[in-house]
Amino acid sequence: MREEMLELTRKMVAVPSINTTSGEKDIGIFIENYLREIPYFKQHPELVVIQTLKDDWLQRRNVFALLRGEKDENSNTIIFHGHTDTVGVEDYGQFQEVAFDTAALEKELAKVELPKEVREDLESGDYLFGRGACDMKSGDAVFMVLIKHIADHVKELSGNILLSLNPVEENLHTGIIEGIETFEVLKNKYGLNYILAINNDYTCPMYPGDTNQYLYTGVGGKLLPCFYIQGRETHVGQCFEGYDPTAVAARLTSEISFHTEFCDSYGGEYSLPPVALKLKDLKGWYNVQTAKEALVYFNYFVHNASTNEILSKLKKTAEKAVSDTMKDLNQNYKDFCELSGKEYVTIPNAWSVLTYEKLYQLASANCKELDELLATITEEGLQKNEDKRELPIRMIRMMLEKAGIYHPVVVLYFAAPYCPHNTLKSEEVQDKRIMDKLRQITDEVEKETKVHYEICQFFPSLSDSSYLCIDDPQESTESLKRNFPQMEQLYPLPFEKMRALGIKSVNFGVHGKDAHKWTERLYMPYSFEVLPKLIIKTLQKFL
Ligand SMILES: [Zn+2]
Repeated sequence: MREEMLELTRKMVAVPSINTTSGEKDIGIFIENYLREIPYFKQHPELVVIQTLKDDWLQRRNVFALLRGEKDENSNTIIFHGHTDTVGVEDYGQFQEVAFDTAALEKELAKVELPKEVREDLESGDYLFGRGACDMKSGDAVFMVLIKHIADHVKELSGNILLSLNPVEENLHTGIIEGIETFEVLKNKYGLNYILAINNDYTCPMYPGDTNQYLYTGVGGKLLPCFYIQGRETHVGQCFEGYDPTAVAARLTSEISFHTEFCDSYGGEYSLPPVALKLKDLKGWYNVQTAKEALVYFNYFVHNASTNEILSKLKKTAEKAVSDTMKDLNQNYKDFCELSGKEYVTIPNAWSVLTYEKLYQLASANCKELDELLATITEEGLQKNEDKRELPIRMIRMMLEKAGIYHPVVVLYFAAPYCPHNTLKSEEVQDKRIMDKLRQITDEVEKETKVHYEICQFFPSLSDSSYLCIDDPQESTESLKRNFPQMEQLYPLPFEKMRALGIKSVNFGVHGKDAHKWTERLYMPYSFEVLPKLIIKTLQKFL
C-alpha cells in the first residue's frame, strides 16, 4: 500500500488547496472522484455524501463516505477525519512555483544550500517535500487508500467506517462545524453508533533528536480574548492631560504575552502561554493628537479552565494594567514638574474595566432596542466583509454611548475563532476503557516495529477534532456566549448537537517536520508503513 499512498499524496499535493482559495473546492472534487471510482461506492453511490458549505462564495465542500460492514449487524462506527486545505506558499520564496510539485521541488532543493538536517533528510530518500505533504494531504491519502482496500473486503468488516474530509481547517474550522449536521443525519439514517474518531493531522518531533511517535487523546481549546481600549485623546503639547490607550495596550501585552500564569493544565500537561496576535491604535491618519482608542487581542490556549475563571483572570490583569499605567504616568508627571518647576497635582485614575456582558447590561438598561441594533451592525459588517474580530468595536462604541460611558474604559470581549477543548479522562469509566485499548494497540505495534509511542492528552496545535466533543460545561459555554458579541451571527456553533454527539476523538497522525514552513516534509516510512497498521489494529479492537 506504501506506493499507492505515496502516489495519491503526490496527486493531492498537486491540487493546490490553499485556505480561502477555489482550490479548496477542487480538492473536494478530486476526493469525490477518487471515492466514486471505488467499486463499493459505485454500487452504493448514496454512501458518498457531498455537503457544500452554506452561503460559501468558494463553494467549498465536505466529502463523506460511509463504508457499512457486512460481516454482521454492528452499529459501531469509527470516523476517519482530516482537513483538505493547506496554508499558503509565500514562505517558499524562489520555490513557490514548485511547492505543489513534489518531484520538481525535490530536484530544486537538491541544487541549493540547505540547513544540515534538511539536507540529510532530503538525501535519505525517506522524506516527501511539498506544501501539504505533511499537513495533511498524506493523512487524507492514508485514510482514502485504507477505505479503498477495506471496501474490497466489506464482507469481512464488522461495524462501519465514516470518512469525513473537510476544508477551512487552517482558519475558522467551518468545514467540520457544518459537518456536525451531517454526522447527525447519517447517525439517524443508518443507526450509527460513533465510538471513536481518528484524526490524521501531522505529528512531529517535540525536541531535536526526538525519535518517539506521539498519539494524542484530545486537543486543547482556544479562546481569542480581545481588549478594546477607549482612552482620552490630547494634543502632544498637553500630553499629561490625556489617557493614552496605547500605553494600556502595551502594558496588557507585556503582562499577558508569554506569561506562564496563564498556562492551563490538565493531566500534568500545560498549555502554551498566550501571545498577542494584534496590537494597534485605531487612528486612521497622522496628526499631533494622541490616540483615542486601541485594540489588542491574544491567542489563549485552554486545557481545562472555565470561561469564567479565564475572564476573571484577564479582568484582574486589565485592572492592574490601567492602575500601573497611571502609577507610571504620575511618576513621570511628577518628575517633569520637578524639572520644570511646576506644582505637581495627582492625575486621577479615571479608568474602569468592563466585561462585554457587564457593558451589555448597562447599555440595555437604557436602550430597549439594543438587540436589534447589535444585529443590524453585525449584518452590515458581515456584508462588507469586515474582520470578525474588529466588527464588535462598532457595537461597543454604540453601547458605551447608550450606557453614557465617556470616561476611559477597557472592554474585554471574545471573538472568533473559539475552539472547544476535549480529552479522554482516566477518571471516567468509558474514557478509561478507550485509553486502555489504545495502550494495548500501541504496545502491539511497538512489538512489531521499532517505534516507541508516547500517549499525550493534548494535540500540541489546533485541530478540527475540537468540534466533535465539548468538555466545557454548559455554564462555561453560556458565559462565553454572553461575552462574545453576537456569537450567533459571527461564529455560530451547534453547541447542542456537539454536546449530544460527544464523539471521543484521538489524533494518530502522519509524521514529519516543519509543517507551515518551506521545508515541510513527510517521513514516509512511519506514515505509510506503521500508521496504517496502527489504524487497522484500532478498527479490529474497537469495531
Ligand atoms: Zn493540519
